[in-house]
Amino acid sequence: MAQNLQRKILLPRTLEERLKTFAGLEQETVGALFYVPLPVRHLVRLRVDGLFMLGRGHRYEVRPEDARWRIMERFLKDNPPYGYIDWHTHPSGNIDYLAGNDLAYFKREIAEDPSFLGMIVTRQKIVTVAYGQGTRDTSVVVVPNPADFAQRRAYISSKIVEAARSLGHENLPHLQATRMHRT
Ligand SMILES: [Zn+2]
Repeated sequence: MAQNLQRKILLPRTLEERLKTFAGLEQETVGALFYVPLPVRHLVRLRVDGLFMLGRGHRYEVRPEDARWRIMERFLKDNPPYGYIDWHTHPSGNIDYLAGNDLAYFKREIAEDPSFLGMIVTRQKIVTVAYGQGTRDTSVVVVPNPADFAQRRAYISSKIVEAARSLGHENLPHLQATRMHRT
């Protein structure tokens, strides 16, 4: 990876809204955003084309379901140059990943893969965690949905279905996280 690399995550409005909806649920949720890297010298734009939910849980235990994780891995293997951003929600609104178990998790992932990108989402804020070697800065920019966004998103969905089928999951059930009970 080049020195002083700057990465800008281009997040379409619709996916930002989805993430914030997840962050408004009672349960924590975890998933992947799929991007295509578009490098220009020291700036790499990561064009996000789709989202895949991997699991749900609560504050002390949120992890991807094994089957879904394997489907994601198959998708990434079969569909270069897609990469992924590992996101999870904090329904509490707390964005401080330094306080809990998140930091240890992120450090472990980054040690394994320097290009790892983590993301924490609350209803108010999206924070990206990236310490990869040579990475100076990684930021999230919410952009209006690109003209071909719907097409790219549908393409990813079809490839996820394909990956699921190739692993023997004919009908992958939708993940439903518990909604917030409002009084
Ligand atoms: Zn967390």
